[in-house]
Amino acid sequence: METKILKIKTLSDIDISYPCKVIKSGGLVAFPTETVYGLGASASNGEAVDKIFKVKGRAKDNPLIVHVAFVDTLYEIGEVNEKYRKVIEQITPGPITFVIRKKASFPKNVTASLNTVGVRIPAHPVARKLCEYAGPIAAPSANLSGKPSPTDASAVIEDLFGKIECIIDAGNTPFGIESTIIDLSGDIPIILRPGPITIEKLHELFGEVIIPDFVKNAKTVETPKAPGMKYRHYAPEKPVYIFERKNRKKIIEIAHKEKGVILCPKEHKRFYPGDMVVVLGSLENPYTIAQNLFRLLRQIDKMDFQIAYVEKLEERGILFSVMNRLKKAGLEVKL
Ligand code: AMP
Ligand code: MG
Repeated sequence: METKILKIKTLSDIDISYPCKVIKSGGLVAFPTETVYGLGASASNGEAVDKIFKVKGRAKDNPLIVHVAFVDTLYEIGEVNEKYRKVIEQITPGPITFVIRKKASFPKNVTASLNTVGVRIPAHPVARKLCEYAGPIAAPSANLSGKPSPTDASAVIEDLFGKIECIIDAGNTPFGIESTIIDLSGDIPIILRPGPITIEKLHELFGEVIIPDFVKNAKTVETPKAPGMKYRHYAPEKPVYIFERKNRKKIIEIAHKEKGVILCPKEHKRFYPGDMVVVLGSLENPYTIAQNLFRLLRQIDKMDFQIAYVEKLEERGILFSVMNRLKKAGLEVKL
């Protein structure tokens, strides 16, 4: 298939008539959001949605997020308790997905036959416009299943070129990790996936929130509340290990022997030999670490190193979400 790459130069002047046409006629478009690139199809077209699963190699029991432009559309799609509406209106559009009891009918494959649906109102101007004119759009991340999510168009091209109709290239995605997912279908909100909207912020917004063990420990679970939780995620082909900084001398030794690369924040670079270290971002502005993470995980496979050792980060704020992705990509080293 011919894949058209549409480059967006200025965000104030976006012509998305072609990708809208593709979505409306049952095709697939990869598009930028403020989290990662999404692979979108019309959420009302079951056959188009089925192509998403085929192209990504995604398991059928892993539901998709439905993207819409306006909060009113979200309320049409699912039931939202009155007490949550104010909060939703306060934090949308943004990098957060709400799991709500489904009201509107969708093809079964969108929600993996669940009675809930995940809905997000993205803030990225390209994603918003696409949702406004061709939405609701069902979209997971625009990568092959299991690979790190794409944070720029080159990563999308690597995985999906020749397999979908259109890729919209608007440069790097601002947050670089997938949306926070919060389940609002019950009495107390449950965090299903940590993301750019931090756990601290969710407490502030919602008061009591439940943080399940699978979120605390970043475990993949057997009988998941959100089916996507049981799948391996974000991993490069090469092994990734997470180590504590206090063990760095030992890790440097091992990395020397095994041709390993060490990933750490800018502030800790000086603790490691210059020829084996790659900077993740800065602790002073930890959002830079989230921004770079998936690009670096993809780069590992192309580098002349055999193993990646990532310094464990303090699990607070956005770095809690970063560590969640890292733990799913790799294993913690016990020394
Ligand atoms: P992705 O966009 O590739 O990160 O995948 C979307 C994720 O959203 C899935 O893996 C699920 O964890 C979550 N999700 C979507 N819909 C629901 C739902 N109805 N209930 C729980 N989780 C959901
Ligand atoms: Mg994904």
